[in-house]
Amino acid sequence: MHLVVSGLTKCFAGVTAVDRASLAVAEGEFVTLLGPSGCGKTTLLRLVAGLVEADAGRVMVAGHDLSGVPAEARGFGFVFQAYALFPTKTVAENIAFPLMLRGAATSLRRQRVDELAQLVSIDDLLDRYPHELSGGQQQRAALARALAMEPPLLLLDEPLSALDARIRQRLRRELRELLGRIGVTALYVTHDQEEALELSDRIVLMDEGRIVQTGTPEEVYLRPATRYAAEFMGRAAILVVEVGSDGSLIPAVGPTVGGVAHDLAPGSRGALCLRPEFVELRPPEGAELEGVVRDARFLGAQTRVWVEGPWVTIVEADVNPRDWRCLGLVPGDRVGLDLRREGLVVLPETAP
Ligand code: ATP
Repeated sequence: MHLVVSGLTKCFAGVTAVDRASLAVAEGEFVTLLGPSGCGKTTLLRLVAGLVEADAGRVMVAGHDLSGVPAEARGFGFVFQAYALFPTKTVAENIAFPLMLRGAATSLRRQRVDELAQLVSIDDLLDRYPHELSGGQQQRAALARALAMEPPLLLLDEPLSALDARIRQRLRRELRELLGRIGVTALYVTHDQEEALELSDRIVLMDEGRIVQTGTPEEVYLRPATRYAAEFMGRAAILVVEVGSDGSLIPAVGPTVGGVAHDLAPGSRGALCLRPEFVELRPPEGAELEGVVRDARFLGAQTRVWVEGPWVTIVEADVNPRDWRCLGLVPGDRVGLDLRREGLVVLPETAP
């Protein structure tokens, strides 16, 4: 493993911002720290950067223990939310700055600046000053500067969050493609699940300073380890079920849902997590669950239907808008719900 973080802990005046965090990142891998505001993502990134001193634990890169090594000596690349370009330097001078610090010859600097500017598509903006650039262009320049030294590790903290939605999406795709092409190892912070799913080789999900799950986007979304993971990674309604002797699930109300409680002992209670895309609407007769349509909203690619039943939470179902029109349902109609097997997740009821 290229980056190994073990047992990193940091407390600020009574708040444990990062609590015994351990993770390993392979060379060339893109790993995202994901979680809600205040869960400790930025502090963990800053601990890795050497910008914050750990109370316990250590950071190793390429087999070297970085304890006591100051941030500037670690040689990592940084891209933060605030673009932090030098305002009195041109784009070219900004990108060249780390090379100059390292004493690179003028001709080499010029060549490298041209290469990097082309890489991030700002080669026509090299003579401009930061205030003459759009937010997206500034972030490209910041990325080029961070890549100038071919850093062993690139650290990015919500670099796209200040941009408008369209540019954010475009830059997201470009960033993924670019970093994959040059093979840099990256640790990325975001609170945006969609961004994490699209960008990451692996996602590290955090809650209150702790790492609660690490896995590929598919693993974390389709096999959440806890209710928190299920609810944070996407929409999920949680239904309490009892596990029958044959592994089937018996909701507190309604008919049995066929054998899916693979990890739970018969007789135990579980929490069934239902994602909207795995719930199908059908006539109530013979359906696995039955409820009443509370509302339906057209969201473009799908129509989301909220269904109330004798269970506690409202279950959401995503249906094709055309199917929805065919169904001709209106709020108050009785409706059946079938659960698509591949999307069912059952956790122990006690899982956090
Ligand atoms: P956000 O997405 O809002 O940036 P985050 O997940 O990155 O949040 P951190 O910035 O790492 O979270 O903060 C984690 C916790 O540590 C929070 O409770 C925060 O208030 C606290 N914290 C962070 N930095 C400091 C500091 N320098 N002094 C005191 N408390 C801090």
